[in-house]
Amino acid sequence: MNFSDLYNQSINDKQAFWGEQAKRIYWHQQPTQILDDSKLPFAKWFVGGETNLCYNMVDRHLENRAEQDAFVWVSTEINAEMIDNYPNIQKAFKALGNPVELYTDYAKRRLTYNDLYKEVNYFADVLKRHGIDKGDRVVIYMPMILEAAYAMLACVRIGAIHSVVFGGFASHNLAVRMDDAEAKMVITVDAGLRGGKLINYKNLVNKAVEEAKVKTRVLVIDRGIMPYTAEPQDIDYATERATSADNNAKVDCVWLESNAPSYLLYTSGTTGTPKGVQRDTGGHAVALATAMDFVYNGKAGETFWAISDIGWAVGHSFSIYAPLLTGMTSIIYEGLPTTPNPGIWWRIVEANKVNILLTAPTGVRMLRKQDEMWMSRHDISSLKSFFLAGEPLDEPTAQWLTGHMGVPIIDHYWQTESGWPILSHAPKFADNPDHKPHKQGTPGYPMFGFDAKVINETTGEPCQANEKGMLVLAAPLPPGCLATVWRNDERFINGYFSLLDGKQYATSDYAVMDEYGYYYILGRTDDVINVAGHRLGTKEIEEAIGHHPEVAESAVVGIHDELKGELPIAFCILKNHDLVAETENRFRIEQQIVGEVARQLGALAKPAAIYFPKALPKTRSGKILRRSIKALAEGKETGDMSTLDDPTAIEAVRQAMADY
Ligand code: ATP
Ligand code: MG
Repeated sequence: MNFSDLYNQSINDKQAFWGEQAKRIYWHQQPTQILDDSKLPFAKWFVGGETNLCYNMVDRHLENRAEQDAFVWVSTEINAEMIDNYPNIQKAFKALGNPVELYTDYAKRRLTYNDLYKEVNYFADVLKRHGIDKGDRVVIYMPMILEAAYAMLACVRIGAIHSVVFGGFASHNLAVRMDDAEAKMVITVDAGLRGGKLINYKNLVNKAVEEAKVKTRVLVIDRGIMPYTAEPQDIDYATERATSADNNAKVDCVWLESNAPSYLLYTSGTTGTPKGVQRDTGGHAVALATAMDFVYNGKAGETFWAISDIGWAVGHSFSIYAPLLTGMTSIIYEGLPTTPNPGIWWRIVEANKVNILLTAPTGVRMLRKQDEMWMSRHDISSLKSFFLAGEPLDEPTAQWLTGHMGVPIIDHYWQTESGWPILSHAPKFADNPDHKPHKQGTPGYPMFGFDAKVINETTGEPCQANEKGMLVLAAPLPPGCLATVWRNDERFINGYFSLLDGKQYATSDYAVMDEYGYYYILGRTDDVINVAGHRLGTKEIEEAIGHHPEVAESAVVGIHDELKGELPIAFCILKNHDLVAETENRFRIEQQIVGEVARQLGALAKPAAIYFPKALPKTRSGKILRRSIKALAEGKETGDMSTLDDPTAIEAVRQAMADY
């Protein structure tokens, strides 16, 4: 099969291409129309078709894969030794029907499609008995445990709309999202652990319930980590599950019209207030089944591991939806990349024969700071490819990883809004002689149905090869992309389609396309700074800094300057922070960084100041919050910090500036 023929068909004959892809899923009722584009930029895919995501992900596989693992859960937060301090954890596993295997430094559970079918039916039964119905919104605020997956699947089984909120968000942000979604129920846990540190989910939910305007019930998965007092709105999941299990409860799948919403997910909030991305049902299923095959080359029976929180788009699409739609095994991991040691990812790959990995560069950079020996202790020969997305993949990290992995390291580009890759390489088609070869340093070329272009955003004119502009996508967006912003069609139109003729989706990322058709992302449109009339991407400066062998990661922001408009300021994380305690080292590294930036980008790009904080503020999905760093550097308020991962990182940045 030839990639470009298929791609061209996906753009020029959408009906034929997507009509064919629609055969990948089970339709209770066939669509009567593949695409309704009469009200662009709103697009309706597979109109009149009726399907159910849970049926396609679970029930459909019972015939051939009942005994194959659907999920393997690994937790390095729970293990045989720590359980001595938390005697109730084991009881809780029993009460939840979870026969977990405990080892000295991790816990594990394998769950077959048959097991999953049972648990999802129990979960759906509990939801139904507590009044959750088609169209109701359910907020899921949970750590990386299997019950989070059951909850998502149970919701789509009965036609309820889930909205997963990152575990670890403060209660205020949870309350805001509960209100925005008008949630009827919140599903949570007593507590979670992160690097051994207790996270009191239940307490945070209590506060959110108090603050929120909506009235919600709270379904609590009690993990036995922390005792809590039940509130009137609480429902204990283990007790309810026991009733459902005693009745051997089965809940029918609710057949939904293809365009019925399946879930809401808020964007990472890197650039401002998060947007409630609304996903449909049929288009979502078809798009992810297609992406798993054509983009990731994943096959039924193989094992996929998206190392991501379920609260992020990657966690939705590639920890839960796409692998199960395809009949694969998906790894769910609760734990950090560095505990019990920095070899944990590779150990999990080895133990579970993982075929395809997907994560964000931030985790890889974390590993790059560790002893190299951890990179070669395990047999990772089961791997076919390793995909990265979410942030720019800098060249040094890509090269370092390639050296250790021995498989293609594939940078690909997408957004919460798209739900699946917009730009990627497609290794499935690599054998075809006409195929664009895999190239390091680029997230590739447009994927199926993404009619991408780089344009000058003021004139609307398409850019020449190698000329910088904004990456836009022609409406209609392909299946699987956001249908609208939840209850805010206006924000959908104004936030994404306000350029020129209103028919181009603005990604708000700068890009160039080279003469061979490879794209390069140059950073966000709001991460561009203007130094004495010259526009510089902060990302380009960060890349130059990344070539310094002692730098693990950096963030560059522009601060206001009377004379030049803006000046770049760099915040660098060193592989060994202690180095800069000595003024001499610090001075040397600063000089080298400045020299490297000047050499690569010219004197204008030289950072006016370089700070060495111990940490950088990031969102829970691993993105550097440049807008907060910028605010700090300009002595302003840090703004909406709701999606901040580690609050001490803000202090670290402040400290580094004070130390200067
Ligand atoms: P918000 O939209 O709320 O400000 P966000 O844009 O960070 O948050 P996401 O949808 O998680 O939320 O991230 C998508 C963005 O991440 C892209 O628009 C792009 O800026 C960046 N990105 C994703 N993948 C890549 C990549 N491979 N290379 C460079 N940048 C990437
Ligand atoms: Mg965005």
